[in-house]
Amino acid sequence: MFKRWLAVSTLLGLILAAGTGLAEQTYRLRLAETWGPNYPIFGDTTKSLAAMVDKMSGGRLKITIDSANKHKAPFGVFEMVKAGQYDMGHSASYYWKGKDPNTLYFTNMPFSMTAPEQLSWFYYGGGLELMQKVYARHGLLSFPGGNTGSQMGGWFRKEINSVADLEGLKMRIPGFAGEVLARLGAKPTNIPPGELYTALERNTIDALEWVGPALDLRMGFHKIAPYYYTGWHEPSAELQFLVNKRSWDKLPADLQEILRVAMRAAAYDMYAMSYYQSAMSWATIKKEYPDVQVKTFPKDVLAALRKANDELLAEFAAADPMAKEIIDSQREYLAKARAWTAISDQAYLNSISEMNE
Ligand code: CA
Repeated sequence: MFKRWLAVSTLLGLILAAGTGLAEQTYRLRLAETWGPNYPIFGDTTKSLAAMVDKMSGGRLKITIDSANKHKAPFGVFEMVKAGQYDMGHSASYYWKGKDPNTLYFTNMPFSMTAPEQLSWFYYGGGLELMQKVYARHGLLSFPGGNTGSQMGGWFRKEINSVADLEGLKMRIPGFAGEVLARLGAKPTNIPPGELYTALERNTIDALEWVGPALDLRMGFHKIAPYYYTGWHEPSAELQFLVNKRSWDKLPADLQEILRVAMRAAAYDMYAMSYYQSAMSWATIKKEYPDVQVKTFPKDVLAALRKANDELLAEFAAADPMAKEIIDSQREYLAKARAWTAISDQAYLNSISEMNE
């Protein structure tokens, strides 16, 4: 009975496939990434996505990747995918705050979630649904695109000893953190990754934050700025995969699922890769560049940043119901997640470090 059913259903499948031509059709998606060609970790993530969907679909879904040298618009990814010039993008949501301020919240927020907290918010705490709600207005889908883990506070040529030292400080720092620094008199700016070293070297900026040892070491910032501050602004940062909604809708359901699952796997792998590479690169910096000085911002500076951050959040929430919905969701989730972090990871690390003292 089962054999007969199998034979009939296989035959039906073959007829259907032959009739619609589905079995033969290859779907091609073009992806624009903000990064330069072969950029480590971020570029590995798009390459692994393309390789996965190709294999998982038996060659029916192909993704070709254009890096910034090809499309010449590292910060044009949102517009290019929205316009359908590209089907997909790999970038960071907070780069689009000028296009839609509500995109700000989906990379990271200062003083907010660590990577496990943020990933659990995205996938189980309603974060992904909120992100889709924001991007749907632009005919786009956005998915988590890989986490960098906790980011360093940046490379500074001069020490920051007081809030007054932030006055007039020209710093590359995107997202909400840039808004926070602006409130304290700094001059935040965003600069494409390929131009960062030159900007710092030529004093176009006084300081910059990029990511952490994993990516900072090969950028060479340690050669021109001795102070490496610990973070406050990106306790986690999730990149994004953008998908044009029309391109998504053209894919058959099985290829949509393959793409969705492959994006999730590639994103998760980037988190593991980032952690590994930061550990390796930090070991190299400690050994080969002992002059690099790790600093933490003074308590009063952090308190001032925190105060400005909270004021801005209240203002953004009051100005826009969608912003309020996202900010409330993050705040409510973080309260619960952090209480758990406090008695798990944090308690463990504290007890171990006290034991070693
Ligand atoms: Ca960063």
